[in-house]
Amino acid sequence: MTLIEGRTGEWECVIGLEIHAQVISKAKLFSGAPTDFGAEPNTQVSFVDAAMPGMLPVINGFCVEQAVRTGLGLEAEINLTSVFDRKNYFYPDLPQGYQISQFPLPIVGKGSITLDLEGGETRTIGIERLHLEQDAGKSLHDREPGATYIDLNRSGVALMEIVSEPDMRSAEEAGAYIRKLRSILRYLGTCDGNMEEGSLRADVNVSVRRPGEDLGTRCEIKNVNSVRFVQQAIEYEAARQIDIIEDGGVIAQETRLFDPSRGETRPMRTKEESHDYRYFPDPDLLPLELDAEWVADIKASLPELPEAKKARFMADLDLDAYDAGVLVAERETAEYFEAVAEGRDAKACANWVMGDLFAALNKAGLGINEAPVSAASLGALIDLIDDGTISRRIAKEVFETMWRTGSKDAAAIVAEKGLEQISDSGAIEAEIDKVIAANPGQVAAFKGGNEKVIGWFVGQIMKATEGKANPRTVNEILRRKLAD
Ligand code: ADP
Ligand code: MG
Repeated sequence: MTLIEGRTGEWECVIGLEIHAQVISKAKLFSGAPTDFGAEPNTQVSFVDAAMPGMLPVINGFCVEQAVRTGLGLEAEINLTSVFDRKNYFYPDLPQGYQISQFPLPIVGKGSITLDLEGGETRTIGIERLHLEQDAGKSLHDREPGATYIDLNRSGVALMEIVSEPDMRSAEEAGAYIRKLRSILRYLGTCDGNMEEGSLRADVNVSVRRPGEDLGTRCEIKNVNSVRFVQQAIEYEAARQIDIIEDGGVIAQETRLFDPSRGETRPMRTKEESHDYRYFPDPDLLPLELDAEWVADIKASLPELPEAKKARFMADLDLDAYDAGVLVAERETAEYFEAVAEGRDAKACANWVMGDLFAALNKAGLGINEAPVSAASLGALIDLIDDGTISRRIAKEVFETMWRTGSKDAAAIVAEKGLEQISDSGAIEAEIDKVIAANPGQVAAFKGGNEKVIGWFVGQIMKATEGKANPRTVNEILRRKLAD
């Protein structure tokens, strides 16, 4: 259990997350207007999205399918009957004066997510529900002093609100939860998970309690848009609440905002209750009835998800939990790795992908799909090590050359630069004889019991052969000669 040390004893932090995930769909939830990110303001707005009088919403079947797919990916119950409700509130960028959402009867019920924590530990976090709802427009306050502009491009875009149970106990767990959820959504192709563009936003509910006590009063931090900020907000908020209670105060249930520049949360408004929204079933929409067979077809078409893939990598490829977890976190990474590992030693391939490839991607700020070295090219390079053509050290050089020049053919680079490993013992022996003859002092040191000198000799021979000598052969011959 992760406990926080207060002035008067220990505390436990309790966290529940409401994640708004924008549905991948070309059209909006109740209109045919497009949803591309970054379009000119107010160019993707139908009369429905602008709430012109007399306009009627028409449900987008693909968005429903995406929500069902997500629910199935979260191992959740799919409700074959669900209802759209109006959630009434005023906001300048909400032209309808209400948001169409789902309240008592959401499309998806209880599910769960398994978190991979440090040391191969796992933890299951409950999902309370997933419902479909419309996004609002956007108020732009920074275009002109004293004026606010409204952009309705986002108005009516489909969101899935995914609500967790209050099952998380630390900022690390909340971070792991968001990363895992994002990974599942990306595998499913139902949300791109891009937090910078606002496709994934978190409302963070935080309370504290003494271990073993009932849940404390929570505060809700709205619209946090990065994993790091979510974690900072939790740390700050838990400390703030503990301070108040230890000073004899009580926590007011309220909605707060996180200010990334100060690393603080501050009050935004007192918490509204659901009855404040005067929810009622939207009279323009019939209850949503799903066909059980249609749901079963979607289930049958789901891709292998990270959890299952990780288990398979561990069982079939003999990878450890850590490597398998890293390799399955992104679907593209898993696909790249599998293409490299096909018919090769999985552990060696995992080392290449997680070592040289990840380092090069990081340095260049590229995603794995943009890597200049393809899975096929990397595989062919690894084959050259396996069949003894080049050493691992030389292979690293060849990899760098491929990365830099975009050349796809490792064997051609090796041939062109004459990088083949020297395994011919005659040639190596000649080099060794030269080095031994030229360094009587080091030979004496070895004979006097200084084992470390061996490393120095190997280094000299590698230098003389420009790294091309087979290190195993060098070691063998060297030890034999020095023992003479
Ligand atoms: P609302 O929509 O009003 O914010 P919900 O019932 O949908 O309320 O709950 C929102 C979130 O708050 C859920 O993720 C839930 O897990 C979390 N939550 C509820 N009680 C607590 C608590 N005491 N401490 C932390 N989180 C909580
Ligand atoms: Mg909430």
